[in-house]
Amino acid sequence: MSPDDLMFQDDETGTMPDRLMTTAAPWPVLVVDDDEQVHAMTRVLLNDFEFESRRFTIVSAFSAAEAQTILAERPDLPVVLLDVVMETQDAGLRLVHHIRRDLGNRHIRIILRTGQPGQAPERDAIVAYDINDYKSKAELTAQKLFTSLVSAVRGWRDLVTIETLNQSLEHRVAERTAQLERQTALAEEQRRFIENLVELMPSPVWYKDSAGRYALCNRAFRELFPNAADGAEWSSQDQGPPSQDFPEQSPPGTTAFSFETSVAGPDGDARELLVVKRPLTAPDGAATGVISIATDITERRRMERELQRLATTDPLSGAHNRRHILELLERLLTGLDVVPEGRQTAGMACLIMLDIDHFKRINDEMGHGAGDLAIRRVVEVIRGQMRATDQIGRIGGEEFAILLPDSSRADGVAIAERLRSGLAALAIEMSDGRSFQLTGSFGLTEVRALGDTVESVLGRADQALYRAKALGRNRVEVM
Ligand code: GH3
Ligand code: MG
Ligand code: MG
Repeated sequence: MSPDDLMFQDDETGTMPDRLMTTAAPWPVLVVDDDEQVHAMTRVLLNDFEFESRRFTIVSAFSAAEAQTILAERPDLPVVLLDVVMETQDAGLRLVHHIRRDLGNRHIRIILRTGQPGQAPERDAIVAYDINDYKSKAELTAQKLFTSLVSAVRGWRDLVTIETLNQSLEHRVAERTAQLERQTALAEEQRRFIENLVELMPSPVWYKDSAGRYALCNRAFRELFPNAADGAEWSSQDQGPPSQDFPEQSPPGTTAFSFETSVAGPDGDARELLVVKRPLTAPDGAATGVISIATDITERRRMERELQRLATTDPLSGAHNRRHILELLERLLTGLDVVPEGRQTAGMACLIMLDIDHFKRINDEMGHGAGDLAIRRVVEVIRGQMRATDQIGRIGGEEFAILLPDSSRADGVAIAERLRSGLAALAIEMSDGRSFQLTGSFGLTEVRALGDTVESVLGRADQALYRAKALGRNRVEVM
């Protein structure tokens, strides 16, 4: 409630039709006196008064009891002119007590008026009840009353203004306090959330401060590195997390960088980790530490290798499949025109096409299982005689391609001849005790550094193989 609100709530305006109306409502003055004449007299005196373009008007009470009723309904009254002796000797002083204590009205200005000397309130009461003036009725000249009332109204208005300001200030302080409390609670909740989230994460997470100490870590980290105590410093020899840390290793301005690494897990097995690191900086840009998170990619990498193997391997023989051996040939062809340093035989390589002779008969006579076994054994025998860099792939049925890098035509022929005699000498033993033998026909061609394609190489090797078949099988032909 502002002072203006109070002023305009006054309903006395309409009771003075005989007066010149000012625009603003008059100041109401509560006159409490058991002497009718005092009211009349005060009214006459007030008639001329105007303060801040507002007149004064009387609200009359003829006893302390009547005044109590009025005051209870009108907390907006700015001033009371109060007689001391009314229904009792101290009715006025009791009313003061009632106003301040019972009604809690600290604003209304109280001007005591008394006819007899010796009825002045005790000094303590003046202070305790905030009695603002004390006048003898004899003193009630217009001038004195006016001075008293103006100072009382000013005092009242100041009090109301201050209280209104205080209230709004208190309200703002309370609001701000509540807001801060909500923010603090929220920040605390967020902190607990993050703490729990980090702790529960299946990936190891750790934080290294600018001095290189491991300052914080989660459960997954402690499980992976059980020997690592919080705050301990790991040397590179320790079984610690990858210490490949720091901002200087990442290009300037990088917010995060990652790498793959392999560490020994708690069971001693190698664990492949994808580590993502992010340097943390203070507002001034200084590095404060590095936060790291590791993902265990051991299983993912194993599966990738397994998928790669399945995609490139012939399931029956374990040799490369057709697509992969042709891809290796293609790679060899693209690499051949590059002369690697220190190599004298640059551009030299051979391809052998091998087809098992009369394989149909093996199937027919010994059963399909024998045919399968033969295919596996042929690959085994050939692999046993190959160099590490040589490759064998199953092109189809019982036909194979053997790639010999760094081999001249003469080398290739010698190797093919060795493979041929190896196959011819092979006795394949079946689980039922029966055994059989076989031979193979070999077509060999050189892979040319310039001008050759996968098709042209395969074409010549096929022609050579055809000729080996035509010339009686179990032999090596070259194209
Ligand atoms: P040639 O000496 O002229 O090469 O005669 P061949 O009998 O070896 O050749 P042919 O092409 O007539 O027969 C190949 C046979 O190989 C036919 C096919 O049923 C058999 N075959 C192809 N793939 C497999 C396989 O994976 N397992 C078995 N057991 N047999 C296969
Ligand atoms: Mg055959
Ligand atoms: Mg065939």
